[in-house]
Amino acid sequence: MHDVIIIGAGPAGLSAAFWCDELGLDTLVLEQAEQIGGQLHRVYNPIENYLGLKTRNGAELLEIFTRDVDAAEFDLWTGATIDFVDLRARRVSLRSGETLQAISIIIATGVRPRTLGIPGEKEFAGNGIIESGTRDRDRFAGQDVCVIGGGDAAVENALLLAEVCPTVTVVHRGRKLRARREFAERVQPDHRVTVFTESVVTRIMGDAISGAVEAVEIQRKGGLKPFQLAVRGVLIRIGVEPNTELVREQLAVNDDGYVAVNSEQETNVSMVFAIGDVSNQAAPTISGATGAGATAAKVIAARLNRSKAEG
Ligand SMILES: Cc1cc2nc3c(=O)[nH]c(=O)nc-3n(C[C@H](O)[C@H](O)[C@H](O)COP(=O)(O)OP(=O)(O)OC[C@H]3O[C@@H](n4cnc5c(N)ncnc54)[C@H](O)[C@@H]3O)c2cc1C
Repeated sequence: MHDVIIIGAGPAGLSAAFWCDELGLDTLVLEQAEQIGGQLHRVYNPIENYLGLKTRNGAELLEIFTRDVDAAEFDLWTGATIDFVDLRARRVSLRSGETLQAISIIIATGVRPRTLGIPGEKEFAGNGIIESGTRDRDRFAGQDVCVIGGGDAAVENALLLAEVCPTVTVVHRGRKLRARREFAERVQPDHRVTVFTESVVTRIMGDAISGAVEAVEIQRKGGLKPFQLAVRGVLIRIGVEPNTELVREQLAVNDDGYVAVNSEQETNVSMVFAIGDVSNQAAPTISGATGAGATAAKVIAARLNRSKAEG
């Protein structure tokens, strides 16, 4: 019997584990990936908004987190596939056969990029699909590219790519870009960026053997037939979705599937907590995630201490 099982080892789960350890709780972290860090692996931009630290990218911040994680004494299992969680019984069954039990569970499973589900998206991943404007700019310099999406991430990446690409075509489903004004305003005078609103990409085409993208097929609202646009790279930024498949039938979630919590990070199931992006649709940040981890750990420790004192 553990005091706490934490599911997910991104910034939120690691912070919770660090705090639980410091507060003397028997803590086990289960991470499905082979490595800890969550989205930090996808942050190629400098992190300049985490108080007290500035790092060149997510990997560098993770390196600093890892020093504290290595010095702490909580158990951490990576590559752990969870088959089933019974939240009310606070029992976790792993694919490897173990069944684990805890007094409390913390869900820290974060979010994943939303996908389009169109032909070509999977086939060209890692090649003609651009993962990050910051990281992949040099690889696509001098090439025409397409960015799918109309929010901050899409437009920020389009502007980055426009510094080195002759044309950047932004394809957005909505009537207006959703990106914040400072980004959207920079798009207008940039002759390299063309925006197709009320349009969707229906197919990504290219050479299946080399993985090179050659064109996208675009369908404009009201347009009779889709047309093809020659591009060498496609960057997809159409938002994220919470990783809640394991638990969403057992607790309260909002309309978009994010876990509902109170100010103590507790869900509507007693002694089950949710922290970080999976429960913070409005303002997902590293500092929010690590702060929520600290809150959940302190609440759990106080409750366990109280129940021990009461015998
Ligand atoms: C490109 C990019 C740039 C960003 N830049 C910034 C920035 O400058 N500043 C900032 O504050 N934030 C930034 N963020 C956001 C920040 O990375 C997130 O807010 C933060 O990582 C959230 O941490 P988390 O632990 O809640 O979730 P995540 O980082 O998503 O981690 C969740 C972890 O849970 C694991 N998991 C999921 N499901 C399961 C399961 N069933 N079983 C076991 N484990 C599971 C995942 O594998 C993952 O390791 C950026 C994000 C991106 C993508």
